[in-house]
Amino acid sequence: MILIDGKKAAAELRNELKKEVAELKKIHNKVPGLTVILIGELAPSKIYVKNKEKSAVEVGLKSDVIRYPETVEEKTILEKIDELNKDESVSGILVQLPLPKHIDKQKVIEAISPGKDVDGFHPMNVGNLSSGYESSVPCTPLGCYLLIKKIEPNLSGKKAVVVGRSNLNGKPMTQLLLKENCTVTITHSKTADLKGECLKGDIVVAAVGIPELVKGDWVKKDAVVIDVGINKTEKGIVGDVAFEEVSKVAKALTPVPGGVGPMTIACLLKNTIECFKRSQKK
Ligand code: NAD
Repeated sequence: MILIDGKKAAAELRNELKKEVAELKKIHNKVPGLTVILIGELAPSKIYVKNKEKSAVEVGLKSDVIRYPETVEEKTILEKIDELNKDESVSGILVQLPLPKHIDKQKVIEAISPGKDVDGFHPMNVGNLSSGYESSVPCTPLGCYLLIKKIEPNLSGKKAVVVGRSNLNGKPMTQLLLKENCTVTITHSKTADLKGECLKGDIVVAAVGIPELVKGDWVKKDAVVIDVGINKTEKGIVGDVAFEEVSKVAKALTPVPGGVGPMTIACLLKNTIECFKRSQKK
């Protein structure tokens, strides 16, 4: 079984991006810039943002974090986004989720200029992705896609099963696999025979949030299995895939932690660079 090393893949990607940023600097005499807006004091959000900032600096991007207290007004955030949309030194804007209850997430997502939407959440990018046009792609499914391609460079005609239909993971994952000519089944909490559907997959991507939901006897022999889940349990952090059981059947499998997670941030940097390149073309 191939243990898909997300840490190594992310380090390789960051290395490539670092070289690309150096090249872009030579050509344009400036580097892509990522601005993150962080609202409140949620510990996981603070850790994510710190890691994003560190990685951005490591590859040579201009990195800014703008912090607001939990009580900040929605209007203040929308005005700041408007200012950042107009700022040419900012290539990508990310508002760290979740937001406090009094701030409308959709309004915030739609306020970000689609060309600077490094999370790929803006409806324009969602639509472009599903139409097969150039777009920012949400970072986690993009990371999964890059890991799958390392194992299976030619996905054409493969049967892929995505478990979970969130806007963040399942739906964009489905679009990426469809673009590669996979035959894709998207499953969810109301799917009648989840085990039966999973068993058909040459590729299985689990993005659910239920510890070890996908069992060994749910997976076809030699399938490639990608585990997006991050679940806190008594035995520590586990994924949505029963690792021990599935590792006996699968051809390749991502561990949790150390699989998809590290790729997410590397893909955020990649998206920032892509936004910069598209803005320079205009
Ligand atoms: P979500 O709660 O938005 O969506 C979960 C999806 O799972 C839903 O579409 C739901 O229909 C489906 N689902 C729920 N119960 C099910 C069941 N019993 N059978 C089949 N499907 C079921 O979650 P999300 O934001 O997509 O996150 C999923 C997991 O991925 C979570 O554990 C989250 O922590 C993790 N995550 C990891 C990363 C990373 O970088 N590795 C990034 C984002 C999210």
